[in-house]
Amino acid sequence: MSLHGAYDPDNIFAKILRGEVPSVKVWEDDDVLAFMDVFPQSEGHVLVVSKTSQARNLLEIEPEALTKLTAAVQRTARAVEKALKPDGLSLMQFNGEAGGQTVFHLHFHIIPRWADRQMKGHGHAPMADAEQLQALAARIAAELD
Ligand code: AMP
Repeated sequence: MSLHGAYDPDNIFAKILRGEVPSVKVWEDDDVLAFMDVFPQSEGHVLVVSKTSQARNLLEIEPEALTKLTAAVQRTARAVEKALKPDGLSLMQFNGEAGGQTVFHLHFHIIPRWADRQMKGHGHAPMADAEQLQALAARIAAELD
């Protein structure tokens, strides 16, 4: 997938947004959804997507939707920090296959980091246990402002 082309309405995040594929939600409103990455690169890895934009990457998103999305990233990151007390947070966002992107519905990764724990590689993490993800999502959601 290059940086240019058509949005695929059957990508996995579009299916999650339509409720056709399950996800472990942290929070949502009319504009955004924050949910747990099922292949977490560290404990508490959250993804944030726009519900209204069909942008595949950062280059395509409408400024108003981007404003809401980045505000949602900050709100979620603050809750992750309060809930899990990481030493740091990595935000990641990939554009185009050559840029490391694998799902072509724009998303931001929020990845908690601990000084004494190695982060797993992008695309190299095992699938997480659903109950553990639910518990993490509940802890994070409880800290939302
Ligand atoms: P990217 O490579 O930036 O496009 O990231 C896609 C992310 O989506 C990866 O971190 C995957 O682990 C994650 N992912 C893929 N399928 C699902 C799913 N069904 N639910 C939650 N996360 C997913």
